[in-house]
Amino acid sequence: MTGGTRTGIGWDSHRLTPGAPLILGGVTLTHPDGLGLDGHSDADVLTHAVIDALLGAAGLGDIGEHFPDTDEAFRGADSLALLRESVVRAAAVGWRPVHIDTTVMMERPKLKEHRAVMRSRLAAAVGLEDGEVNIKASTGEGIGFVGREEGVAALAVVTVTPVA
Ligand code: MG
Repeated sequence: MTGGTRTGIGWDSHRLTPGAPLILGGVTLTHPDGLGLDGHSDADVLTHAVIDALLGAAGLGDIGEHFPDTDEAFRGADSLALLRESVVRAAAVGWRPVHIDTTVMMERPKLKEHRAVMRSRLAAAVGLEDGEVNIKASTGEGIGFVGREEGVAALAVVTVTPVA
C-alpha cells in the first residue's frame, strides 16, 4: 500500500579518535582536544542516522546493505552523497522525505553555532526546506560512551510521503 505517510528511525554511533575529522551533517567541526570520528566512510554519524531512517521509512533495509563498509568504493565517502543516493533509491520505490528530526549525542564541542549550516546541508541533500529539518543536541552528562568522549551518537526520524 502506498497511501499516507510512513516514518523510519535511524541510529548510529562512531568512535572518537585523535586526528580524524569531525564531520556532522556535512559540516567539519573542531573538537577542543583534536578528536574526530573513525569510520570507513567520512564517519558522519548524523548523516548516517538520517540515511538509515530514510531507508527504514521506504522499507529498503539499512545503510550497510546499500553502502557496505567492506566496499572500497565507500572508503572516505562523502556521506551527503550517500544520502542523496538514498533519496533516489527511496523515490524508485515510491517514497520521498517530507520531514526530518534528529538528535546528536556529543559531549563537545557545542553544536549551537554550526546547527544552521548542518540543517541547510541536510535539507539540500534531500530536497527539503531548512524548516523541514531539525537538529537537536544532547550531551552525555559525563557518563556512558558519549559522556566519556569515546564516541558520538545520533538518532533520526524521517517521515516520507508517496512520490506524486
Ligand atoms: Mg555510521
